[in-house]
Amino acid sequence: MKSTNYDLHTHSDASDGTLSPADLVQNAHHRGVNTLALTDHDTVAGLPEARAAADLCGINLIDGVEVSVCWNGQTIHIVGLAIQSESNVLTEGLLQNIKVREQRAHLINEKLCSAGLEPMEWGIIQGQNVPTRTHFARHLVAGGHAKNINQAFKRYLAKGKPAWVEAEWLPLGEGVQRIVQAGGIAVVAHPLRYKLTRTRVCSLVEDFQRAGGRGIEVVSGHTKPDQLRDMVGISAQFGLLASRGSDFHDLSQVWAPLGGGPAVPEECEPVWTHWLAA
Ligand code: MN
Ligand code: MN
Ligand code: MN
Repeated sequence: MKSTNYDLHTHSDASDGTLSPADLVQNAHHRGVNTLALTDHDTVAGLPEARAAADLCGINLIDGVEVSVCWNGQTIHIVGLAIQSESNVLTEGLLQNIKVREQRAHLINEKLCSAGLEPMEWGIIQGQNVPTRTHFARHLVAGGHAKNINQAFKRYLAKGKPAWVEAEWLPLGEGVQRIVQAGGIAVVAHPLRYKLTRTRVCSLVEDFQRAGGRGIEVVSGHTKPDQLRDMVGISAQFGLLASRGSDFHDLSQVWAPLGGGPAVPEECEPVWTHWLAA
């Protein structure tokens, strides 16, 4: 086990993870993670509980968030690290995205009905701190319409599928700025997940940096050697700080364990030097 293990991208049940913030922190600690960022989708609600648990077990907790943004008609995820979670500028932006999520949840339910599927009970959706598509995916799995979350997305929830709904997130520049104004470091999350061409990735990074973005996840969970080389190349080309995170949601997702994935290569400037120096 590595002596220092950073996992800077994780979810609790404050968004679409299955573990409570305290259980997440304990699991990360048991897996040898020394520094953990809780980065729930569009919310910082899990941070106080995570902080209390982190203090108990002596893990270093970084206050984080994962903000959904729109860039050229595409949804991109930006992780904010070492944010001041009580920042008004950030909170206002997150509330706008949560409103989008609530509207989207209504529309997804309508589309499920049109497709002859059972909608999610509105009380259950409202019981979530942040309604996400993963909640709908779990609902579809529970109803026997898919054998797992991935299949629920592929069959119903993904772009072009019967229950797909376009969402108008904060624009990229605004999302990044709200993180920066909250004292945080903005990081492009899982850059390979968007299936962009190299040219488009570069164009995304340029717009991201123009807005004040500083980092990129060179390691996102299970990362293959060629993918790692690719991301190291992009971080070097643009002078981006390198981040590392599992994007953990659920203990059953054995391919994305807490603290999992390769180490950040030595040639990179890791994002944590930023707050270690502070
Ligand atoms: Mn998620
Ligand atoms: Mn994401
Ligand atoms: Mn995530």
